[in-house]
Amino acid sequence: MACESEVLTVDSIACTGHGICAQLLPEWVRLDDWGYPIIRPGAVPATLLPQAKWAITNCPALALHLRKSG
Ligand code: SF4
Repeated sequence: MACESEVLTVDSIACTGHGICAQLLPEWVRLDDWGYPIIRPGAVPATLLPQAKWAITNCPALALHLRKSG
């Protein structure tokens, strides 16, 4: 049975580079030299999902999303 997982993505057009996501989810997001997020590829571990959802809620540009994968 395939296991459904969730991948964190950023809408790079909507993102305004506030960097809050990297503060709230440093295990999964780091910032590039211009302050824009670089998100780890692959499924977000279940233990990090609450933090990921918190980062999504707090993104001022509503640019972060969890997408089903697998
Ligand atoms: S918090 Fe939102 S707007 Fe700010 S860098 Fe992260 S994705 Fe972009």
